[in-house]
This record gives sequence, C-alpha cells and structure tokens, in this order.
Amino acid sequence: MDSEPTLSYLDQPQAVKDRLDRMKSREVILQVQGLTKKFATGKSEIVALDQISFKTHRREFLCIIGPSGCGKSTLVRILAGLETASGGKVLLDGHPVRGPGRERGMVFQGYTLFPWLTVRKNVMFGLRMNNVGRAEAAKQANEWLALIGLQKFADAYPHQLSGGMKQRVAIIRALVNRPRILLMDEPFSALDAQTRERMQSYLLEIWKKVDITIVFITHDLDEAIFLADRILVLSAHPGRVDELIEVPIVRPRLPTHCTSPEFAATKARLEALIHPPAKPGEEEETYPAVPLLTDARDEVD
Ligand code: ADP
Ligand code: MG
Repeated sequence: MDSEPTLSYLDQPQAVKDRLDRMKSREVILQVQGLTKKFATGKSEIVALDQISFKTHRREFLCIIGPSGCGKSTLVRILAGLETASGGKVLLDGHPVRGPGRERGMVFQGYTLFPWLTVRKNVMFGLRMNNVGRAEAAKQANEWLALIGLQKFADAYPHQLSGGMKQRVAIIRALVNRPRILLMDEPFSALDAQTRERMQSYLLEIWKKVDITIVFITHDLDEAIFLADRILVLSAHPGRVDELIEVPIVRPRLPTHCTSPEFAATKARLEALIHPPAKPGEEEETYPAVPLLTDARDEVD
C-alpha cells in the first residue's frame, strides 16, 4: 500500500482561508487579556488560569479544549461574570465585564430548565426578567420554539422531553434576549453519542440563522473540530494557552468531513498537544492484562 500523503493541519483550502480572513475582518466581540485566576485552598493557592489571552470576532465559533481540571469551567464562569478574575481583563464589545449581563447567554452541561415551568414559560423567563410584557414574551417564545421545531411541546414540562430536546430549549432560552455571545460549557456531554452528533449539526444550523458569536467548551476533540472556526487549546496546572488552531475544514460542515484528511490532520495535532508522550521519569498509566476468571474457556476464546 502506498503511504498516505502527509497533510498538515496548517494546509488550509482557499475557501477556508477566505472565510477566516472575512471573519478576522469583522469586529472583535470578546477580548481576554492576561486573565489569571487563583483559588485559595487553606494555606496554599491553586493557579487555575495563568495569563490567558485570546479574542473572538463577530460570528466566530470558537471552541476551547483542554484536559479535565485545566480551568475551562472557571474561564467560562469568569466570561459569564459569575466568578471574578484575580488578574487580567475581559472586554465585551470593548467594555469590561463586571457581572452577569443579558449580552451573554449561557448553556451548561446539566439540564438547567426550570422543572416547574412549561417549555414556553421556560423560554419566556428571561424575556419577562427583562420586562417584556407577557403577551409579547409568549409570542417571541412561540417563534423561537417554531425555529427549533418544538412548538408542539410548548405546554409540556421539561421531564416530558428527551435530553436532546431539553438542550434545544436551553439553547433558545439563552438566545431569546439576543445576546452578543453564547457561552456553552460542555452542553452535549450528558447526551448519548447519536443525539450528541445530531445536536452538533443542529447547533451549527441555529448559529447560521442567528447573528451570534459562540464560545464552546468541550474536552471532545472530534466535537471541537466539527464545530469550530478556531480551537483554543489549554494545558493544565496551571491552565495556559498552548495554541490557537484554525480548523482547515470548509463549511457547511457535514458528518462526512469527520473522515477527511484535514480532520485527521487537525485531530493529530490536538492529540499531540493534549496527550503528549510521557517525559522521562513520568509514569504512564498502565493497563495490566486481565486474568482469566472463568473455567468456561470455550466461551471466552
Ligand atoms: P475544567 O472545567 O477544565 O475541568 P475547572 O475550571 O472546573 O476545570 O477547575 C480548574 C481548577 O480549579 C481545578 O484544579 C479545580 O479543582 C480548581 N477549582 C475550581 N473551582 C474552584 C473553587 N471554587 N475553589 C477551589 N478550587 C477550584
Ligand atoms: Mg468543566
């Protein structure tokens, strides 16, 4: 067999280059400069984030990826204004973030719909909080539910919906107030693999229809490559920016792109950054051979 031609993740098709150029010519929505977060734990101190800097442009889809514990949730909570930074700046449309605000929508991993409210009332909630009248809020909620094909479930309660449907409602609930940016922290990780893939495509559909910039946290490499324009790779302890990768895959993204050479090249780069080979002296996790625990040899061979 001929050896595969080696393609680098840096080789971008012209259509991707053009798209990224257009994206970078749009205004900066979010700018993070030298962001640092320390947690005091007893006498010692954990540096969760160390000098994180990046920016996202209008309508960009940015994924942030990194090993568990590298500070991804801490970062997104600071961007949301739910946590304060120990140092550095977060600017949204050039203004410092000082607390939660309606220009930022959030979707978390867990199902965060209010179980005691109907689907429509869950969607209306944020609008009502912003003093939109009941009739107008109901009208807008119905329009958003129609956008995601769930108008039939408007009077249902969250427990009557599947996991995928709940997250679809959570997404529009975050979008009703027309935020400038949508912050998503591992929103699909509780879903089964098939639903998760459908939700990824669906999120891209919604993103195309709404003028929104997305910052999406995940630890799933395939998910990041499938969704993102650019992927910010964080390393752990303390969380630092390792690299900002531009995904060399054209849009619209299709499931078949996941078997393309560009996808494989990007994944290889991410794997090298996230799972670097063990350094001398460092122990690699071992998987010992499993001893035979049955006499019925013929059934296990
Ligand atoms: P990730 O989302 O990437 O898994 P987190 O942001 O949840 O990581 O956590 C990053 C680091 O900060 C971890 O070491 C975690 O134990 C620590 N951490 C997070 N929140 C707190 C807190 N409230 N108090 C002390 N340490 C915290
Ligand atoms: Mg997390």
